[in-house]
Amino acid sequence: MKIVKTIEEMQRYSCEIRRSGKSIALVPTMGFLHEGHLSLIDEAHKNADIVIVSIFVNPTQFAPNEDLDSYPRDLEKDFKLCKERKVDIIFLPSVENIYPSDISTWVTEEKLSQGLCGTTRPTHFRGVTTIVTKLFNATLPDVAIFGKKDFQQAAIIQRMVRDLNFPIKIVTAAIVREEDGLAMSSRNKNLSCEERKQAPVIQQTLQEARSAIYADNEKCSVNIDLIKDNINLRISQSGGNVDYIEIVDPITLEPKLNFSGETLIAVAAYYGKTRLLDNIVCN
Ligand code: AMP
Repeated sequence: MKIVKTIEEMQRYSCEIRRSGKSIALVPTMGFLHEGHLSLIDEAHKNADIVIVSIFVNPTQFAPNEDLDSYPRDLEKDFKLCKERKVDIIFLPSVENIYPSDISTWVTEEKLSQGLCGTTRPTHFRGVTTIVTKLFNATLPDVAIFGKKDFQQAAIIQRMVRDLNFPIKIVTAAIVREEDGLAMSSRNKNLSCEERKQAPVIQQTLQEARSAIYADNEKCSVNIDLIKDNINLRISQSGGNVDYIEIVDPITLEPKLNFSGETLIAVAAYYGKTRLLDNIVCN
């Protein structure tokens, strides 16, 4: 397993790999890897000859009041896990290498980035689309793998790739969960013992919402506001603080008026200072 620390070196390697006729899959991460990330690596192996994992805690997707400084890191463990999972290259650039101090070019997606996480994190997705573009330009992948836990992010990347004609296939992978249902996340490490016990309620309420919708038996008469109120109440009672609960079309991310067709229920909630995301698709 090679560790590559600069864009220039990464581009050289990727050019060589492509010239040799091999395909490349990229798994972009911010490190502190868990089984969710590892499932993306497995998916990457199914899709290409060479697997590159990038590890970069991207400062431009954090607002000044957010948790950049407390974002968990453990590079040694990340290296070990990547090696076990037969990753070919870890791309580990520095902030200085990625962002020139006078950077003045950004990539922005202007529609799907507006709601959900974009409401309370208005600069977040500009940071995401810019870094993903830079990682694409550094690693030159044929395929890139994203998790559905960050559903809005995956939708925005798919839109960006379509709109800007990146010759890259985007593959999305299912959410990997802890045994009690909590979606795996590097940020779970920052939960206190008590918060960790409370947080699985997010997933439980989403499951309950889906059961209520399915029990309705295609009549589409379940009230959207009632579902949102119930999720809100259950999360608040468990000790959480809801940032948003949105019920939207999974492609356009536009709010839905009823549960006909595919529907995404997406939640962001704080337990203590830790912001957690989860979602469920109802069909
Ligand atoms: P992060 O390191 O949190 O920025 O995540 C890197 C990638 O891993 C993103 O595409 C995430 O959606 C994905 N990911 C994070 N957690 C999970 C999970 N529990 N299941 C599946 N994918 C995940």
